[in-house]
Amino acid sequence: MPSPFREEHQQFRKTVRQFAEKELAPYMQSWEEAEIFPSEVFKKAGDLGINGAHYPEEVGGGGGDYWFSVVKAEELPRCGGAGVVMALLVQADMATPVINDLGTKEQKDEFLTPAIKGEKVAALGVSEPNAGSDVAGIQTWAKKDGDDYIINGAKTYITNGTRADFVTLLVKTDTTSGSHGCSFFLVPTKTKGFSVSKKLKKIGNHSSDTAELAFEDMRIPSRYRLGEENQGFMYLMQNFQSERLIAAVSACAGAQLMIDESIAFGRERKAFGKPIIKREYWQHKFVDLQTKLEAAKAITYKAVEEYNHDKYVTKGQVQFETVKIISMAKVFVGDVCSEIADQCLQFHGGAGYIDEYHISRAWRDSRLFRIGGGTTEVMRYYIAKIMGL
Ligand SMILES: Cc1cc2nc3c(=O)[nH]c(=O)nc-3n(C[C@H](O)[C@H](O)[C@H](O)COP(=O)(O)OP(=O)(O)OC[C@H]3O[C@@H](n4cnc5c(N)ncnc54)[C@H](O)[C@@H]3O)c2cc1C
Repeated sequence: MPSPFREEHQQFRKTVRQFAEKELAPYMQSWEEAEIFPSEVFKKAGDLGINGAHYPEEVGGGGGDYWFSVVKAEELPRCGGAGVVMALLVQADMATPVINDLGTKEQKDEFLTPAIKGEKVAALGVSEPNAGSDVAGIQTWAKKDGDDYIINGAKTYITNGTRADFVTLLVKTDTTSGSHGCSFFLVPTKTKGFSVSKKLKKIGNHSSDTAELAFEDMRIPSRYRLGEENQGFMYLMQNFQSERLIAAVSACAGAQLMIDESIAFGRERKAFGKPIIKREYWQHKFVDLQTKLEAAKAITYKAVEEYNHDKYVTKGQVQFETVKIISMAKVFVGDVCSEIADQCLQFHGGAGYIDEYHISRAWRDSRLFRIGGGTTEVMRYYIAKIMGL
């Protein structure tokens, strides 16, 4: 496949790399300890055009194609902590695409443009205490009341949840049907009835905040409903495709860094009189890991190509081939990156278990990829269905 990157992408790559290395990396350790990073980071990313490179110019974006998002997800991991990367991707690639796709001019002005500028922090509220993989089982309910909706329920594991200015929220609007009864709302977090019920402690991605949210008789006007009532599940499936793709790109980039850093470590660290990287055992291991990573990058790029060509719904038809290749990329990247993380940690010996070595954080952080945005098992479940098994 010829390189999809043009001169503008390469310029953008330099901007994101500099941002990750100069504006994020030096502070990563303190943000990991604080279990949050300053909200101004969203604004700095906005000022540099990082949040909105792939959004149209009329909403404040850069007017670029999806490869700009790919470049961003490839360069941000150089900051050394997947928590900040995840938070920035939620802001730009997970909580807001659905606003760009469905939002009215007023909704875009109030939510999308400030999110692109980094003036408002966005969160995506889908998962619930009793429903994650099985999204159709969500119980948060919006009951129509005149021209408003009254929302009651709870969400959990919500990235950016403790300080989001708004939540792109999936709720039930028809409790008698499953997936056909869901709708999306844009919920300003200053609305009466909204609260952050808990900040969650995690095993990794410490620099990002993750929260449980509660909605108690929260009154939301109809103008904050995104798209058509009861069509939310289809919109979510559409949103999931770019979410999974961008996470796969970023996981591959993180895995490449783990390999590169490990090889550099192995040139210095000696055992039995020579650098450990000179042991044939490890050389072959790294050859295999790099080969698998090349395959993971290739399937991810193929999925991006298909996604660029056929979105989830094109000409009124769900593009199951696109869903299949994106789901396959998520499964394959997840398995490969987990193996790379584990082997790179092993290669570090005791140092791999010690916090001051980056590999220990990368190993912890990388574990999320097989869970977040759809587990590996659920991806296989979808692929099996599409394959007609
Ligand atoms: C750090 C972090 C950040 C997150 N950020 C967000 C966010 O910003 N917004 C948001 O909405 N959500 C977020 N999530 C939630 C995440 O997307 C869910 O955790 C994930 O989709 C899995 O859902 P669950 O946790 O409810 O697991 P469950 O659905 O309860 O699954 C439990 C187990 O059952 C397996 N399983 C389920 N169904 C099947 C099946 N059909 N076949 C085989 N196995 C199956 C799963 O694979 C898993 O192993 C986040 C999660 C984490 C940990």
